[in-house]
Amino acid sequence: MKANIHPEYHKIKAVCACGNEIELGSVDTEMRVEICSACHPFFTGKQKLIDTAGRIEKFKKKYAGYQATKKK
Ligand SMILES: [Zn+2]
Repeated sequence: MKANIHPEYHKIKAVCACGNEIELGSVDTEMRVEICSACHPFFTGKQKLIDTAGRIEKFKKKYAGYQATKKK
């Protein structure tokens, strides 16, 4: 390795929104994530929808009328 051209690589902790911490190496000093293997539904098997702008409610509202007309 050439001297003085490489960024400093060190061990940092990636902190997830669920509180889980993952140790990893990076040139950054800090890492924050919203989802990790401990809380992602793919790994937990639980369904957890992250609804940021009420879009699920909007969708349900929109199609509630449609479902009602279909049944008749
Ligand atoms: Zn997490």
